[in-house]
Amino acid sequence: MTNVFEIGPIRPPSEANSLLLRVTENCPWNKCKFCMLYKEASFHTRTVEEVKADIDAMAYYRDRILKHKDGDDFRRDALLAEYHSLATEEERYCYQMVFHWMTEGQSHSIFLQDANTMVLRADRLAEIISYIRVKLPEIKRVTSYGRADTLSRITKEDYQRLRKAGLDRIHSGFESGSDKVLTLIGKGTTQQQQIDGGRKVREAGIELSIYFMPGAGGKEFSEDNALETAKVICAVNPDFVRLRTFVVKNGSFMWDMKEKGEFVECSDIEKLKEIRLMISNIKNCTGTLASDHIINLLERVNGNLGKDIPALLEYIDEFLNLPPLVQKQYQLARRMGFAGDWKDMNRLHPSDLSRIKQVSESITDAQEWEIMLNRYMDRYI
Ligand code: SF4
Repeated sequence: MTNVFEIGPIRPPSEANSLLLRVTENCPWNKCKFCMLYKEASFHTRTVEEVKADIDAMAYYRDRILKHKDGDDFRRDALLAEYHSLATEEERYCYQMVFHWMTEGQSHSIFLQDANTMVLRADRLAEIISYIRVKLPEIKRVTSYGRADTLSRITKEDYQRLRKAGLDRIHSGFESGSDKVLTLIGKGTTQQQQIDGGRKVREAGIELSIYFMPGAGGKEFSEDNALETAKVICAVNPDFVRLRTFVVKNGSFMWDMKEKGEFVECSDIEKLKEIRLMISNIKNCTGTLASDHIINLLERVNGNLGKDIPALLEYIDEFLNLPPLVQKQYQLARRMGFAGDWKDMNRLHPSDLSRIKQVSESITDAQEWEIMLNRYMDRYI
């Protein structure tokens, strides 16, 4: 038995403490114009046997680590000695991940990588999930990415089979509910597929966590992006709506479009207004809205999509009603990585604050300002 398991490149932020199980490799679509993640890599599925061997390796490290448990804690010296005794860098990395999962993640969840594991035949995926449940019984949540097109094609029976095997949550980058925007960004999915797929996931009792990109339609489709996205949210009533403010990544296909004038990006503030418009059009939903990424201007736009909408709108309006210079100061701080909102600016070091104020005052050209903000934001995508 090999004692290493494969680890793919990404996972949702909410899976930061999960085990990462690579079931498929790369992205079967790979044509979104804003995404560069898997551009040089071709998609393939791993065999059930390969994936089971990875699960065995995870269980193997779990058992080794558990031997060093002492009450609620671990004997750190013994752990470190064992870690350094491992023969390869890969083994040490796997050991570290399992330890992180057991401590920070409390052995809670596992995420099935890569970009769209739901594309796998349901019987194979169910076999893998069942195996996880047997070998790692402490896991309480099994989650996967799934693209809307794939989600709409899976039958209700297959969803039931996957749910029964133990699939708990699907993350899906819907990006926009607008067909115009979906075409523009090359997502290869439609609003109808999002609604059909999303409803089937929910009806099977699987949680649905969807991602939207305010600003993805540029200035031209900003309103459409907000209104059509709200329409999808209302139709599906997902468990989680997660915001990922859109920024054109340097080097992406959309960067070329922007350079040629075929895509005119919204300003940072216009993207926030788009979020406001979207939220104000959500009705009869019960899920959670999460602004859980540094790329979003306001990190506290979090709440229940049923009862918290008035408070969320009030919070956004409070920021939008600030004097433009105060907005700029916060924007710059945030884009430089400040975690907090404009009311917490006094937490900044006085010299940083003074520099932020000086730069905010000195850059008066709107275009230059946005270019500078985007340069910071490019680091986060
Ligand atoms: S489906 Fe996801 S991973 Fe694949 S190209 Fe689009 S954004 Fe990238």
